[in-house]
Amino acid sequence: MLDLVIKDATVIDGTGAEGVSMDVGIEGDRIVEIAPSIEAESAETLNAAGLVLSPGFIDVHSHDDFHVLIEPEVRHNILQGITTVIVGNCGSGAGVPDGGKAQMTAINEPSAVLPDWSGYGEYFEHVDKTSPVLNVAALIGHHTLRKQAMGGIADRPPTDAEMTDMLAYVEEGMQAGAVGFSTGLVYEPGRYANTEEVAALAGISGKHGGLYVSHMRDEGTKLLDSVKETLHIGEVSGCGVEISHHKTVGKDNWGQVVQSLEMIEDAVAKGHDVAADQYPYTARSTALFALVQNGTFADGDGGPMGKSEPSEVLLCSVPGGPDLEGRTLQSFVEEFDLPGEEAANKLIHDYSESIVVAAFGMDEGDVRMVMAHWSTMIGTDGLDRGSKPHPRAWGTYPRVLGKYVREEGVISLENAIHKMTQMPAEKFGIENRGLVKKGYYADLVMFDPDTVIDGATYDNPRVGPTGMPHVIVNGQIAVRDGKPAGTRSGRALRRGQK
Ligand SMILES: [Zn+2]
Repeated sequence: MLDLVIKDATVIDGTGAEGVSMDVGIEGDRIVEIAPSIEAESAETLNAAGLVLSPGFIDVHSHDDFHVLIEPEVRHNILQGITTVIVGNCGSGAGVPDGGKAQMTAINEPSAVLPDWSGYGEYFEHVDKTSPVLNVAALIGHHTLRKQAMGGIADRPPTDAEMTDMLAYVEEGMQAGAVGFSTGLVYEPGRYANTEEVAALAGISGKHGGLYVSHMRDEGTKLLDSVKETLHIGEVSGCGVEISHHKTVGKDNWGQVVQSLEMIEDAVAKGHDVAADQYPYTARSTALFALVQNGTFADGDGGPMGKSEPSEVLLCSVPGGPDLEGRTLQSFVEEFDLPGEEAANKLIHDYSESIVVAAFGMDEGDVRMVMAHWSTMIGTDGLDRGSKPHPRAWGTYPRVLGKYVREEGVISLENAIHKMTQMPAEKFGIENRGLVKKGYYADLVMFDPDTVIDGATYDNPRVGPTGMPHVIVNGQIAVRDGKPAGTRSGRALRRGQK
């Protein structure tokens, strides 16, 4: 007797192949049968006529390291079909030995009360104990371990002893099952690290078969130099490379992705393992402090984070000032009668360095070009914090499927699903997931290709999709008829785990 049979689904399996009408049988946490018609008895049956059944989505660019422990229902992810998150992006990791996780909670989850843990081994144990609604794989974040080893934010190279500590932290994380090492070289303290420091740390990841994943030093005027640095680090560290949220920001820099995509093509043609990820929006989201520090509002070209006008900047979360959330920076320019940069500094001074904003500054044509390229997979880069988070936290996957696949035809449905499932599973070494295949884990999503669409907007961002009724994680129904079903069957996924 099977536990669950899904009837009459159009199975799009994740390989890029066209859909086929099939029944899918599940026993325990695995797919055990895929056939035109399954007659075997089953404890439960789901009718999926008219729905596409695909592998659950793998969000390669998550910042929910702490969220999965604090709010293990992780509604913003599960409702949009995400069944695995890869956390630890942009240099922000979940921890290092010696209780260093506290270093990161400040920016990601400022009010969080978390259990104590030390290192990635114990982080994964906490994930397993908590059993969030979805699976969690992790990258080791450079910022976190650099702060821990160097006593905070240090604008200098590490001493030999500090470097030894950092190398040991990466070693602990890789042995515990992390899938790679990430940097955020535009942010503190990553920006104070030179190429050699990063390459040496990434080398530990490479030794274990892990990736080097980077929010690069510059996504503005010097985008191409940053791609060059990233590819170089991948080469000398022996790591496969993942370029985070591939884009260029600042109007003067639009179109540079033509060259950055060519650089990826050249590197892959030479035999290197290089890919990228993307969220489907023209606004980024980041700390207001980082925009100021990188010259976004100053006179000139906008620097490494590109230029955004104060009218293009929306306050997403303001610790201590929730009533300010949703306002533009321009409204404070007028209220304070100060230029953009000074208005931003006053907000940071009066409230918090952890103010998060959404800032427009990307080109829709660039977004489409990057999405259509074979090197690009999908990730949310979401942070469901404050009352007005960037809508990508709730809308990324249904937006790609509704807007970019159905409405605009930028990519095919089969290709979009491939970029969300098999491609990230293979790149990040997530085994036995990412395909609808006999013997694979039953991480699945069902959606109506004719209606699926994101509901989250900048004004009203904490809204799930429509047209995505069912989500299954490790064989358990996690979303039923578009609502959380109350199960929590996610696990920590350690590198090499079958
Ligand atoms: Zn980033």
